[in-house]
Amino acid sequence: MKTIYMDYSATTPMKPEVIEVMTDAFKHHYGNASSIHHIGQEAKVLLQQAREQVAQLIGAEAREIFFTAGGTESDNWAIQIALETKPGKHIITTNVEHHAVLHPLEALEKKGYRVTYLPVDEYGMVTPEQVEEAIEEDTILISVMYINNEIGSINPVEQIAEVAAKHGILFHTDGVQALGNTPIDMSTNKISMMSMSSHKIYGPKGVGALYIRKGVRTVPLIHGGAQERKVRAGTENIPGILGFAKAAELAGASLDQHIEKLSRLRDKLRDGIMNNISDAKYNGHPVLRHPGNVNICFKYIEGESLLLLLDMKGICASSGSACTSGSLDPSHVLMNIGLTHEIAHGSLRLTLGDFTTEQDVDTVIEEIKPIVERLREMSPLTE
Ligand SMILES: *Cc1c(COP(=O)(O)O)cnc(C)c1O
Repeated sequence: MKTIYMDYSATTPMKPEVIEVMTDAFKHHYGNASSIHHIGQEAKVLLQQAREQVAQLIGAEAREIFFTAGGTESDNWAIQIALETKPGKHIITTNVEHHAVLHPLEALEKKGYRVTYLPVDEYGMVTPEQVEEAIEEDTILISVMYINNEIGSINPVEQIAEVAAKHGILFHTDGVQALGNTPIDMSTNKISMMSMSSHKIYGPKGVGALYIRKGVRTVPLIHGGAQERKVRAGTENIPGILGFAKAAELAGASLDQHIEKLSRLRDKLRDGIMNNISDAKYNGHPVLRHPGNVNICFKYIEGESLLLLLDMKGICASSGSACTSGSLDPSHVLMNIGLTHEIAHGSLRLTLGDFTTEQDVDTVIEEIKPIVERLREMSPLTE
């Protein structure tokens, strides 16, 4: 049985070119980039090239890219930067953020900070006007995710960044799902900080970056040595960073084709499911959307059972996000776009990527209908 992987928003397989670069680095570029000798200096040169490659993907300058251990660290760091460089106790975010933003903010509330969790519309989006209205005298940070990891909606982050800039407030965006899936150009927007992760763009896990616009004051989250211009200590993960940079280079070289191909397959998958199965709801924005995201709730069934039966057919999917599965609560994103418990429980997220084929999409369309029907026959909820 062929495995059909449709969980690219949870993580991506690495591209062969990335593995090649990393293997070479593990073998030959073992130097510590802080060492004076030639092996160390070689690593330092490669590190700088990697920084340029990642910067290029988002129209930034190399000095605005700071490598981290992933998206979660970058999100935590961005919040820490606001806390330590701005006076004030108020933060604005949305109620559909990734837990890497929500949980640190909830921890801050216990320490006396006030957090406004903006309610989202039926698509999981907020407007710049909503953000502006929520600004208070002592707001230090606005953090709104670029693309939602569960339902794929794209927020108007450039306009929100304008609002933040007008009021002199730092604007951070969790750009983990946006990187490599939508054009981003830091030279034409006012985003102050953006989180990125390598393993969502066909690079290795455990590596990411925080974009910090030049001029934004920065402080360390992790204290120690003088790496990353003294703001992110710890010996650089050279193989991981080089793999991330290769993935970024590949993403940049084929961004338009990637978006075009995925959007076509995504819409085919959506239509194939929605036209064949009744009592289903398509979640997320119809157009302003991640090119590879399909999120559908099927009435009367449990998403978990659906996942297990799909897995028995070799199909890897997810209900909501990988991070919330394992708990019985329905996804906060689906609840906050206004779905009932019952409907949110029947959610399925299929996320496509560069290795997804037309045949994969056809197979999933074919396999899913009898599975949903079987589950509905057994369900006590079916009317
Ligand atoms: C995956 C993801 C993260 C976490 O990134 P890691 O590199 O796995 O720590 C954060 N935010 C979003 C939106 C994500 O999809």
